[in-house]
Parts: sequence; structure tokens; C-alpha cells
Amino acid sequence: KVLMKLKGITRTYLMGEVTVDALKETSLDIYEGELLVILGPSGSGKSTLLNIMGGMDLPSTGEVFFDGENLSRAAEGQLTAYRRQEVGFVFQFYNLIPDLTAGENVELAAGLVEGPLSVTEMLKEVGLATRIDHFPSQLSGGEQQRVAIARAAVKKPRLLLCDEPTGALDHLTGKLMLSLLQKVNREQGSTVVIVTHNTPISAMAQRIVRMSSGRISEIIENTSPLSPE
Ligand code: ADP
Ligand code: ADP
Repeated sequence: KVLMKLKGITRTYLMGEVTVDALKETSLDIYEGELLVILGPSGSGKSTLLNIMGGMDLPSTGEVFFDGENLSRAAEGQLTAYRRQEVGFVFQFYNLIPDLTAGENVELAAGLVEGPLSVTEMLKEVGLATRIDHFPSQLSGGEQQRVAIARAAVKKPRLLLCDEPTGALDHLTGKLMLSLLQKVNREQGSTVVIVTHNTPISAMAQRIVRMSSGRISEIIENTSPLSPE
């Protein structure tokens, strides 16, 4: 089943006199329940594509469908509802709210949806049961990213979007994040899309989309995805 359909989308940025074609005519179907990795060098359009998937940006031309709904023609309010209720985000730099504790950061996300998972259970799941009252500044990078994953997953989002989720972490900590994302994919059934320029991450994907100069250059099916352990 197709969860998201990107149909001939482009994204052009105007920089004064200069136009930048961040995305050239691109089409992609994302299937319900898959774990998809988008690979490509810096500047190839990965973040632009991810932002469009998450309803944080709209394409300049082309159409975006989520579960049959046309997001590219949605009103701002509908788009906000989509981002809040259907999508979880994990960023390279965690983006936690610094004056809220780990528990409060996750609670805030849980409050956006009906029937979220338990905040305490979610923090337990990512191994942070004892850190619930800590502030982001009191946590290591890996711990902050675990809070960010808990914050995204507590909503049971149908789509979990991750932009360089291991980019700021050491190798071992990065692997732990990937196993957590894979767990959310397998156990909660969230469709997971991970953008990275780190090729080894793609071993755990069911499909690998390779981008180059604003285009999808290749889609690879991986018949035996690895667990990151
Ligand atoms: P990646 O995530 O693969 O590094 P991006 O999607 O961030 O690629 O960027 C693709 C291209 O679009 C780059 O040339 C980048 O400089 C440009 N770009 C991205 N965001 C903006 C923006 N807000 N304004 C102008 N140019 C942008
Ligand atoms: P790229 O891989 O496209 O070059 P970056 O690595 O600069 O992009 O950023 C990846 C993502 O992290 C982007 O979506 C951006 O919005 C976010 N980001 C970049 N810098 C920061 C920051 N200092 N704090 C929080 N988020 C950031």
C-alpha cells in the first residue's frame, strides 16, 4: 500500500537574481511500513525532499499525496494538522526545548495527538527511565537523540522522518539510534524515512533511494536488511 506519493515535484529557491533548483522533477512512492534510506552527497536535495514529505515545505510544482490526501493543495491549517498528527521528526541536532526536561519534551509531543503512547514507557523503551527529569543540557548527545526519538515515536506517527539522525554522534551511539528507529518501524509499524550521507546506514533499509544534483538517480531494493546490532 502506498502511504505517500510524490508526483513530478520540483523545488526552486530564488536567491535574488539566482534560482537554485534544489529538486528537479522527482517522483517517488513510499510504502506503508517500509524503512527507506535516502542517500546522497551534501546539496543533492535530500533535506528539501524530506521537508516536503513532512509538510514543512511545499513543492514549486507537482503534487504530494499522503494516504490519498493532496497535501500540495491543502490549506495551512490542514498541513499543520498533518505535521502534528501523522509525522514524527528526528533531526541531526535533536532540537529539544532546552528549558523543558526530557519528560516534558516528550509530553509536549504526546499532547498533540489522540491516544499517544505513555511518556514514561516511551522513555523506558529508549533506555532513559532514570533521565526523565533531566534537562537537555544535562544529557549527552546520544541521550538527547534518544529523547528526540522518544518524542517522535510517542505520537505513534504513521511517518517518521529523520534528517541525519546519527550525524552528530559517534559510531557506536549512532548504531544504537538506528536500532531504536528500526524498533519503532517494526514494533509500531511507523513508516521510517532516513536521510543521510552515511552509506553504511543503508544496510538496514528495505529500499535505498540515491540522490544526485536534485534528482533520484537510483532506487535499490534490499532483500535482506540488516539489524544494526
Ligand atoms: P542536502 O540535504 O542533500 O544537503 P538540500 O536539500 O539541503 O540538500 O539542498 C539542495 C540544494 O538547495 C542546495 O544547493 C542548497 O544550497 C539549496 N537550498 C536548500 N535550502 C535552501 C534555501 N532555503 N534557500 C536557498 N537554497 C537552498
Ligand atoms: P545538509 O545535510 O542538508 O547539509 P545540515 O546538516 O546543515 O543539512 O542540516 C540538517 C538538518 O538539521 C536540517 O534540516 C536543518 O534544519 C537542521 N539543522 C541544521 N543546523 C541546525 C542547528 N544548529 N540546530 C538545529 N537544527 C539544525
